[in-house]
Amino acid sequence: MITPGGTIGILGGGQLGRMMAMSAAQMGYRCIAFTPDKDHVVGDVCHDVFVNRWDDRQAMAAFAQKCDVVTWEFENVPVEPLGPLESLLAPHPRALETAQDRLNEKRFVEGLGGTPAPYAPIDSRADLVDAMERIGTPGILKTRRDGYDGKGQWRIDVARDAEGIALPDAPCIYEGFVEFDAEFSVILARTAKGDKVVWDSTANVHEGGMLHTSTLPAGAFVEGQVEEARDLAGQVADALNYIGVLTLEFFATARGPVFNEMAPRVHNSGHWTIEGAATSQFENHIRAVCGLPLGDARTVAPGICMTNIVGKDALDATHWLDDPATHLHLYGKAKAREGRKMGHATQLIWE
Ligand code: AMP
Repeated sequence: MITPGGTIGILGGGQLGRMMAMSAAQMGYRCIAFTPDKDHVVGDVCHDVFVNRWDDRQAMAAFAQKCDVVTWEFENVPVEPLGPLESLLAPHPRALETAQDRLNEKRFVEGLGGTPAPYAPIDSRADLVDAMERIGTPGILKTRRDGYDGKGQWRIDVARDAEGIALPDAPCIYEGFVEFDAEFSVILARTAKGDKVVWDSTANVHEGGMLHTSTLPAGAFVEGQVEEARDLAGQVADALNYIGVLTLEFFATARGPVFNEMAPRVHNSGHWTIEGAATSQFENHIRAVCGLPLGDARTVAPGICMTNIVGKDALDATHWLDDPATHLHLYGKAKAREGRKMGHATQLIWE
């Protein structure tokens, strides 16, 4: 167990790390972060920030020296340079290796009985032509690595569209387009001993590939699919011997839950848990990686809506506070660039 007063290392400098560090501070831990990003937003709430390239071995070793445990907030942290952190990492980096490659991730989850959209690996135009014939259109071409929030994705409505796409110089995957009624996520926390808690599943609405809102109750259609999705998420967590918060995203379809992707970390669709659950995803992540017991994950209000605040909408975000049941979170990002997640607002709906 890492007792309060100990130091938690966070890989990544984004808003997830910021909110993790705030929970850690509440329980008396100190956080230090490691990020290559000079524009990080963890500095306000971390004791120290190492701004270095991921492959700076010396800096990574110096960082390791200062930490009692190290976790991550960013799932595309390259695994290879993490050698000096090996005995300190929670979760185990095998979770990163599995989730960083869409092909590995789908095969892994399929092996545990999950159902992803039909997919095929794409390394050439001939592969794409074959995949479109076998799987059909519409479909989505995605890079296997480094894509998030809809980046590195090209929708193909008819086979002819593919001719206009310059194939990226990176391995890709083609997925059949899933006709879904809703999207939802399962977010769970697991301790090293295998104890688990799971939060209620929100209905998630995306705009342009990026999460827009997460809402509870999620509605009967989603609720009818949550049990099966939770079983799968629990199996994924056990198979990885996972420690911390793990997220699986699903499409709710007429044929049941279709697995979309997993994130081995706290998740945007769980931000509502800060005010909307007895224990937030951030607090339970910190508890799990420090070897403490998990807190109750139950929802505390009859209705909840979390809305992401993106780009210039952040400039007048205080209007959210006109409703006394709404909580505003701004991540302290200096530039309100278009498409940049700047904050979120969580509205608790009491009647
Ligand atoms: P991803 O980054 O793969 O989670 O994709 C972002 C969003 O794009 C998803 O949450 C869906 O709204 C949409 N999307 C991705 N893949 C598919 C698919 N195979 N079928 C339908 N919609 C998809």
